Amino acid sequence: MMIRNPVPWPNGARCAVVFTWDMDADSILHLAHPNDADTRLSTHSMLRYGPEVGVPRIIDVCKQFGIKNTFFVPGWCAEQHPRAVELMVENGHEVATHGYLHEYPNQLSREEEHFWTNKATEAITRISGKRPVGYRSPWYRYSKHTTDILVEEGYTWDTSLMGDDVPYIIQSQKGQLVEVPSRWQLDDWPQFVHNHDLDFMMPIASPAYAMDVYMAEFYAMWEHGGVWINCFHPFCTGQVARMMMLSEMIGKMQAKGDVWFATGEEVANHLNELIRQGKYEPRVDKLPYCEGRLPELAEDYFTKSR
Ligand SMILES: [Zn+2]
Repeated sequence: MMIRNPVPWPNGARCAVVFTWDMDADSILHLAHPNDADTRLSTHSMLRYGPEVGVPRIIDVCKQFGIKNTFFVPGWCAEQHPRAVELMVENGHEVATHGYLHEYPNQLSREEEHFWTNKATEAITRISGKRPVGYRSPWYRYSKHTTDILVEEGYTWDTSLMGDDVPYIIQSQKGQLVEVPSRWQLDDWPQFVHNHDLDFMMPIASPAYAMDVYMAEFYAMWEHGGVWINCFHPFCTGQVARMMMLSEMIGKMQAKGDVWFATGEEVANHLNELIRQGKYEPRVDKLPYCEGRLPELAEDYFTKSR
């Protein structure tokens, strides 16, 4: 076995699959160009494709396959596009938090980060009708304070970190969360995103090429008992050709069999329940990993240590 500590999944499943979507909408354009986002209408329209066209299509496809997904929504995007969030809720999907305006937590003070996380949490609660318990930090920019803040705000799980192949525990001073680890191989930006206003100009991959990358991860997790959790974007993978690819992918996963399709919240609850019953001992990662600059990198380290 490649994975030393595989999680016993429900009903003897070989792996867990969690489909997640980050509905960034136009928040990322405002963040990148606060002074003149209003003049960049083409990119605006590209991003608004997410809530307007992508989300309803994703929800139809999920319905067809009978699976529930997790949607990460910046609080501001929920306020701007409440109908998209209502559709998620009406169809039984999890709505989770992704910043307020897609601000980067690791560039904020602890107070600022807490302010925005709380504002996002309140917006999602108001619009979805349920307090969110899941979180992905914008651009994976999880900060040294994020765990403490999420614990204080009542969150139970996160998927911003990349430290394992199976869910594990992240622990900070204030408490702990279940980490359902992400990986760049399962993000759709490297495959598809090409837009000069966003300073991201990837050579656009074919849906078949991207599917190869995603499915290689799936077969590996199926073989060795891991968790497959993606990070797709409704404006990007919500496009027709890519959704045809996604349908094919879900079909292949279902045909393979013994797969637990779950939301992130369900995976976190499952892990916590196993721990409570003494049936599984997870890896525990203490955060943050370090504080400040390494002493070895101090300018006088060489002279001092001679
Ligand atoms: Zn995002």
